[in-house]
Amino acid sequence: MVNISFSIAGRLPIGDGAPVIVQTMCNTATDDIEASLAQCRAMAAAGAGMIRLTTQGLKQVESLRIIKERLRAEGIDTPLVADIHFLADAALAAAAVADKVRINPGNFAREHEVACAKFRELIALCKQHGTTIRIGLNHGSLGERITRRYGNTPLAMKEAVMEWLRMCLEEDFRQVVVSLKASNTLVMVEAYRLLDRAMREELGCRFPLHLGVTEAGGGDEGRIKSAVGIGTLLAEGIGDTIRVSLTEDPVHEIPAGEQIVAAIAASYSTRGGRTAVEAADWNDFIIKAACLWGPSLLDKKIDDFPLEGSTIGGRPVEQAEGEHFRDMLLQACRRRFTAPEYIACPGCGRTLYDLESTFNEVKRRTSHLAPGIKIAVMGCVVNGPGEMADADYGYVGEGRGHVTLYRGKEPVIRYIPQEEAIDRLLALIEADQKEQTFQVAGHRFAVQAAEGVDVSPALAHYAPFAVATDLAKAPVFRLFVVPQGGLPQPDGLTEEFRQDDDGSQIRVCHTPEGDSWFEFSLWGKLSGTMRARPGFSQATLEVADYTDFAVNNALMVLYALRTTSLKTVLFHAAVIGNGGRGYLFLGRSGTGKSTHARLWLKHVPGSELVNDDNPVVRIGADGTARVYGSPWSGKTPCYKNMDLPVGGFVQLAQAPYNKIQRLKGIGAYAVLVPSISGKRWDRAIADGLHATENALASGVPVWMLECLPDEEAARLCSQTIRV
Ligand code: SF4
Repeated sequence: MVNISFSIAGRLPIGDGAPVIVQTMCNTATDDIEASLAQCRAMAAAGAGMIRLTTQGLKQVESLRIIKERLRAEGIDTPLVADIHFLADAALAAAAVADKVRINPGNFAREHEVACAKFRELIALCKQHGTTIRIGLNHGSLGERITRRYGNTPLAMKEAVMEWLRMCLEEDFRQVVVSLKASNTLVMVEAYRLLDRAMREELGCRFPLHLGVTEAGGGDEGRIKSAVGIGTLLAEGIGDTIRVSLTEDPVHEIPAGEQIVAAIAASYSTRGGRTAVEAADWNDFIIKAACLWGPSLLDKKIDDFPLEGSTIGGRPVEQAEGEHFRDMLLQACRRRFTAPEYIACPGCGRTLYDLESTFNEVKRRTSHLAPGIKIAVMGCVVNGPGEMADADYGYVGEGRGHVTLYRGKEPVIRYIPQEEAIDRLLALIEADQKEQTFQVAGHRFAVQAAEGVDVSPALAHYAPFAVATDLAKAPVFRLFVVPQGGLPQPDGLTEEFRQDDDGSQIRVCHTPEGDSWFEFSLWGKLSGTMRARPGFSQATLEVADYTDFAVNNALMVLYALRTTSLKTVLFHAAVIGNGGRGYLFLGRSGTGKSTHARLWLKHVPGSELVNDDNPVVRIGADGTARVYGSPWSGKTPCYKNMDLPVGGFVQLAQAPYNKIQRLKGIGAYAVLVPSISGKRWDRAIADGLHATENALASGVPVWMLECLPDEEAARLCSQTIRV
């Protein structure tokens, strides 16, 4: 196994045990040459090992060239890094100017082959100019090609970067540094550990690693989060260069980084059998203490830590200081949440507003909110939404003086003046707090009604499924119910499907933008129209007559479509619980599912009706299928919030005799498919349904019962299928 090492710009050694380099990044516009120069000088004076500058395009490459020449003329030879995000041509031009180019090759082009070709071109230029490449992948910016296969996981981050490293080795190019940043310390640490192991075991060499907790925020929180993530890895011998990203003056990042490096090298005194921290000041204390206890908390080796005996500037740590630190460290290690969690980018040349003061104001005005709710404050709309990872709400700069507010990944209030953005953000969160939340088969969903719309009668039988609204637990979908006139009909609708079932009609269309459009009618009268965003995580329903019918159908449709990717399916079936298991009776409407269920209730002791029409089946993490009651139950009101492991599926067919047989393979699969709701013409939904149906057909017994509606049928069935 080879530890790869080289010198950046021919003078700064990195890798294979060279001293850890502490670097930072300008938050000035690179084209503002005087401001960027002033910041670079201050950073160099503070001891920055490397300085990164935003390099969006060719114009900024030219500005970087001027900045570099002027710094060199002044005797400042700190290596400069061009920060490229998307534009491959900017990376190619920067290779001849910067000492190091930071890229995510996956962002070079939508087509993977094109991105690969551009990356090889960049390698050739970097070889020619002696330029280092940093392959920088962040948790929030993984491409769909990778996440479809590995999810949005540390494993996906590792896999994504290994592909590019193999290409570097094929091209015999080793002047490469790698980073896999995330704002979640657990994700970040796990990703680097996986990568370190994979490089050793699969590549036979270790490329130098750049460590950082991205979007860490500022102040104590930003320092502690960074110390936990970076400190844990440095202590394991992983990491060659670091950046502490702070939403503050970037010059502050240098002492914070140096303190982390020093804390890892330090030895700690032991008093009365307890390890204590001796710190020069508060910042020194929080970083040392986070580096000391953070790794064991993160890895769940300890649950708490002692502060007795620790000192700051020679005096004991006060109780209030200790409690404040304990809360923040436990939260940074994701062990206990006592306050909202903030995600904030450090700002860069793309930031067009005062990020630091805005971030502090957002924190001040939202600090009362629920522990664990994640609020992101991001400098720009180009990278902000992708980089804010799994934030519940996002405040994202969009051009000069304007902001777009996000709920999760959805932009919900667009391009509003900055002066009103914090008020609107609070109003958005407040409205969400008032929504009604329900949980079916472990999936939460929320309903928000506009002023003047009464949805309480429609939701009466959802009561057993109601849960307290918790902003830190994002629902899988939200339905907004608005009055007539609240949802304009879009132009250019394309019809996909129509269904008329016993007087209730549903029409499904899509809009030119890719949204889904539903019309729910009862006895020929339109009762509601719904527009759902792609992915079905958000929808708006306009109600007219028969509000109950529209709301109920909208929720059932959204639930069925949204959860197909979550190993969950909505069945058309009657369910009987017996002996601790649930048995689902399937068949077309009118086949006698409810009748057969009633026969079990009457003639098979210990039977209980779980649901009469629309139960949910979900495959758990252990691979076991469970059936859940739901708020949807056809003609027999049965809204039980209960669940059981699935004992079997029984397809019913009317016959002049009673006979039962087990179905296997394709026969079992074919029986399940018509009983599961879904838009099968939608590729993503069909894939999700297929995966679950396959697992059910192969993991749960499926039977065919040809029967009369009599006691003997129930007895034959129950005696054969019960396990
Ligand atoms: S999200 Fe922040 S740090 Fe990232 S590119 Fe935008 S302004 Fe710069």
